[in-house]
Amino acid sequence: MAPRLFAESGADLELVGIQKRFPGFTAIEELSLTIPAGSFFALLGPSGCGKTTTLRLVAGLEEATAGRILIGGRDVTTTKPFQRPVNTVFQSYALFPHMSIIDNVSFGLRRRRIPDAFGKAHEALRLVELDHLAARKPSQLSGGQQQRVALARAIVNRPALLLLDEPLGALDLKLRRQMQLELKSIQEEVGLTFLHVTHDQEEAMTMADTVAVMNKGRIEQLGPPDALYDLPRTAFVANFLGQSNLFTGPVVATTADSISVDIEGHRIVVPKARAQRHSGEVTIGVRPEKLSIHLAEPATVAGGNLLGPGRIVDVSFGGVSTQYLLAIPGLGTVVVFVQNLGAGPLLAEGAEAWVSWKVEHGFGLEDEPLPTSRFPSDADTASIAVQKKRAILSELEEA
Ligand code: ATP
Repeated sequence: MAPRLFAESGADLELVGIQKRFPGFTAIEELSLTIPAGSFFALLGPSGCGKTTTLRLVAGLEEATAGRILIGGRDVTTTKPFQRPVNTVFQSYALFPHMSIIDNVSFGLRRRRIPDAFGKAHEALRLVELDHLAARKPSQLSGGQQQRVALARAIVNRPALLLLDEPLGALDLKLRRQMQLELKSIQEEVGLTFLHVTHDQEEAMTMADTVAVMNKGRIEQLGPPDALYDLPRTAFVANFLGQSNLFTGPVVATTADSISVDIEGHRIVVPKARAQRHSGEVTIGVRPEKLSIHLAEPATVAGGNLLGPGRIVDVSFGGVSTQYLLAIPGLGTVVVFVQNLGAGPLLAEGAEAWVSWKVEHGFGLEDEPLPTSRFPSDADTASIAVQKKRAILSELEEA
């Protein structure tokens, strides 16, 4: 295990039945969660779902309408912000422009007359690998370096809990990815508890031990990133954390360990253990990268599900993989990711194709199915090919 540069470890955070109402608007419906000491916890959700409000409640910048907040077992619900063992790193670095980096980082310690403020600040700067730039002014650093200084300035206070509010939002994509890995390794090194809010699903999955997906002031699902991705329980999680193909239909047969769902005449099998509901109308799904494309109808798909034929209506080359949209009459479009093992896309627009996947890769949601036959997927709303696809689909359906 990496040596701990800071002796104190983080404290756990408990939110118990938190509700936050603003005049005329409830931002947090009901929130209860426990974040274990020393963990990297991400609150992930779309704009306006209540992430920042949650952080502000923990920091003491907002007062909860109901519920309790405990840090390291101590009830801090009514404690003033500066009395909480918490520091926040925001998207804007908010460094003092006229002060050197070392003066910025040591500022809080010096103001509180903590002994050896400069020594501690240098130690924090070494941690973010910027000690060699300690004499510079913030304007002489890049955005990523300034963000690391902001992190050092928060860590140097040795808070039990570090709150990160979209701290990498202002950085370009490449730097953001690099900083994600650095932030994760710094957290492992210092052993503090990090609570990070972001709307970037890749960021949450890359860094956090535990991700809580938030929607409209509630946590929809919480768990380790790989488990959430593998087995989303709601349509919102299935499409917010990555993309999913979702289909709705009645359960027409069950065995001891699987259910069969009729999707517009196609029989799709899902393991019972991976399906939240086992009877009636259900919504089932599969991730795009779990699908295989076939240009001729396979004679058999042992242990698998098959859909088709359909027509490829869009091909988007994405470097690592190619995204195909397959329009299947009666079913809408299916998104397929195929790894680019050759020089470019394998299939062309207009080709007839089938898709198959292993039964063990399907999942069944707990949502009551929508009245329409299927949920719109991300690709439906995001792809520039939507109009074209719809036209071909209606042509196919008319034929
Ligand atoms: P973003 O990613 O855009 O920052 P968020 O998930 O952090 O979004 P919050 O800032 O927590 O969202 O806001 C949650 C909801 O509460 C929003 O609908 C917002 O408009 C509302 N809200 C936040 N602060 C107030 C306030 N002071 N008064 C009234 N409504 C507020």
